[in-house]
Amino acid sequence: VKNEARMAEKTYGEGLFAKVSALIDEYLDLHRGDTFNDDKLFRDLEITSRDARKEAQKKLSYLVKEQVLKKDKNAYIYINRDITYIPWYNCKEDYIKLVLPSSHHPDDLTYFGFEDVAKFSPGSLIVIAGVSNAGKSTLCRNILWDNMHTMKSVYFSSETTGPAFKRYAQVMNWQDPFKDGKPVFELVERYRDYEDVIRNGWLNLIDWLDIEDGEFFKIGNTLSMIKEKNPLGITVVAIQKDANKELGRGASFSKEKASLYMTLDYDKDHELYRLTIEKCKEWVGAFDPNHKTYGFQITEAGTQFSNIRELKKCPECHGYGSRGKNDCMRCNGTGWTDGYVSKRVENGIEF
Ligand SMILES: [Zn+2]
Repeated sequence: VKNEARMAEKTYGEGLFAKVSALIDEYLDLHRGDTFNDDKLFRDLEITSRDARKEAQKKLSYLVKEQVLKKDKNAYIYINRDITYIPWYNCKEDYIKLVLPSSHHPDDLTYFGFEDVAKFSPGSLIVIAGVSNAGKSTLCRNILWDNMHTMKSVYFSSETTGPAFKRYAQVMNWQDPFKDGKPVFELVERYRDYEDVIRNGWLNLIDWLDIEDGEFFKIGNTLSMIKEKNPLGITVVAIQKDANKELGRGASFSKEKASLYMTLDYDKDHELYRLTIEKCKEWVGAFDPNHKTYGFQITEAGTQFSNIRELKKCPECHGYGSRGKNDCMRCNGTGWTDGYVSKRVENGIEF
């Protein structure tokens, strides 16, 4: 580009406008969405001569007139006319049927009861904010496993390896991940810029989205970009959560973009895993799933959820886990007591 710019400057008179014009067109292609002013454009394209600058300004006013650019004070803004149409008329169902994790042991069969009322419109974003080792990846793998035969699925992982994933897959034998000798889902190694590779209409799982310290405010924007790329499917994004905070990294910035926002906590002293519904935007019926908490265990080498049950704040210690200096007897110091248990019926859900 720079050489061409120099060439353009050497050619005065006839042809200069055409050359400057071509340079600017190329520049705009590369800088879609950017905002710039005359000086920046001249600097970037190394347009130094007075004649060439005059031609460049002519071209810019032409582009404003043609509504390729809009001008705001001294700044030029590229008008983004990319449109993603939503083919609503082709959609067979209002909601996408998404199966959430459950125990697949015949003598357990428990599942997260909020699944009965939670609904997922096309384009839904599910955020899983979990502390380390509280089951984020287990949850992502289970969502993949239980939906991969009904939805095209892609699993973006930032920390698995082929052998590690295969070990999990061999234990998760309640589903066959192959069809005609090929895996039914895609496993992709990815660390950033997920919005560039999201597959529209698919189940996209991101395990997990890393946000640097001090950059938490960016998460809302990042989640928006990711979500916008999948208006017809469902996107699941796992993020990190600090143990002593209620919400995950980016807090409300991440919550506002989500249709379903779940947190995962682990009380190591009492070996109690917890899943809390911080937000469920779409639900039907009388049972409001918002702010419900579930206890569970992770069994089978980190592959399966079991003993899933609703948890209630302990009525004796009001959730503190202690009475004076002693552990609360009623809840064994956990602060929680067991509530309702939802079980799959034998011939209800197809595994
Ligand atoms: Zn208690």
